[in-house]
Amino acid sequence: MEAVTEALSQGAFSMELSEDQRDVREWVHGFAANVVRPAAAEWDEREETPWPLIQEAAKIGLYSFEALAQFYADESGLMLPIVNEELFWGDAGIGMAIMGTTLAVAAIFSSGTGEQFGEWVPQCYGSVEKPEVAAFCVSEPDAGSDVSSLRTRARYDEASDEWVLNGQKAWATNGGIANIHVVIASVEPELGSRGQAGFIIPPGTPGLTMGTKVKKHGLRASHTADVFLDDCRIPSRCLLGGKEKLDERLARAREGASAKKQAAMQTFEATRPTVGAQAIGIARAAYEYSLQYAQDRSQFGRPIIENQAIAFALADMALEIDAARLLVWRAAWMGRTGRKFENAEGSMSKLKASEVAVWATERAIQILGGNGYTREFPVERMHRDAKIYTIFEGTSEIQRLVISRAISGMMIR
Ligand SMILES: Cc1cc2nc3c(=O)[nH]c(=O)nc-3n(C[C@H](O)[C@H](O)[C@H](O)COP(=O)(O)OP(=O)(O)OC[C@H]3O[C@@H](n4cnc5c(N)ncnc54)[C@H](O)[C@@H]3O)c2cc1C
Repeated sequence: MEAVTEALSQGAFSMELSEDQRDVREWVHGFAANVVRPAAAEWDEREETPWPLIQEAAKIGLYSFEALAQFYADESGLMLPIVNEELFWGDAGIGMAIMGTTLAVAAIFSSGTGEQFGEWVPQCYGSVEKPEVAAFCVSEPDAGSDVSSLRTRARYDEASDEWVLNGQKAWATNGGIANIHVVIASVEPELGSRGQAGFIIPPGTPGLTMGTKVKKHGLRASHTADVFLDDCRIPSRCLLGGKEKLDERLARAREGASAKKQAAMQTFEATRPTVGAQAIGIARAAYEYSLQYAQDRSQFGRPIIENQAIAFALADMALEIDAARLLVWRAAWMGRTGRKFENAEGSMSKLKASEVAVWATERAIQILGGNGYTREFPVERMHRDAKIYTIFEGTSEIQRLVISRAISGMMIR
């Protein structure tokens, strides 16, 4: 009987999306096509947080914790990548303005207690009338790829039962404009990343200030800024996971146990496909636009797509985008179903998707010729937006490091 059940479950393998997945995809696509895309060029030029669009997303329920929970509940793991691809197909800058909050929510979800989740997550989103955003602050001026060397310190003040944070965070998405900041700080610097913990900085906490807003190459509708923490005092209940758990973890780390490090690595692997899906959304948008353009534009008396040079480029774009999506879906499924990432499949998916996005958007500019290079056409914006994907959430070099270490079991440097 067991064998039959197993055979049936193996035979049940399908690459067909469920009705629910198709419905949600259509719903997000409609929002991306009708609301996001028409506003993309304007907000890219303004370089401001598109609050009216975040509010529109809140009105339809897309910008809400409930929606995120529903997407996450999908047991195949594919819903989150599907939603992200569609939204970022609309526009990546606005997409990030809407999805940036998710990073902080994911951190509270993975490290916080149920009580902390209930208290802080609703405040990350605000309300439909007054939407809010949240920020997840890890990077620092001297700690980008090397997150084990964070200088931001968190000190416990027993007398007041408060944590006191000091330091500078760099390039935080929504940094300084967020209602809730989740900050990773070092409690015991000599323990490296194992001596770090996550803290919630509640709205209006004195000592948290925003540095200069960063002027960027792309993703310009998404706010990025440094965040300064200057004797920033927060109640002890703002330590994610609570003090008892942290003390236990620090004690284990002092003894040299490394099991937790492995767990953290597995978590990164699980979140990377969603980022990859965003890059695929950009790549697909550029591909679709250039495919249409190549059919409409004539030179030498025939549509430019009738030249193999152009048609083959489009064929390669279609191929690479599909290949990247399959890697993303595989990793998302592995993460959601608790499979072990033996070969860093999460990193593989983010690496491939980000490099395909940079390459495909560049090809799209080439296919549009001079028009592709102007701001009258959207592909130059897509190219600018795509580039960040080989840098944030782990650079391409760091992804290759993770993959090569996983496949070889050796300490590649
Ligand atoms: C638009 C934007 C939004 C961001 N949002 C956030 C956010 O919300 N929260 C947050 O915490 N951070 C955020 N970041 C920061 C981002 O995660 C970092 O920029 C990224 O991790 C890279 O760090 P770095 O810029 O310091 O580069 P570095 O670490 O200085 O790397 C520079 C170069 O050296 C290479 N390199 C470094 N170490 C190695 C190595 N061991 N082997 C081979 N090559 C190596 C890198 O791959 C890269 O090419 C954001 C950045 C940007 C630009």
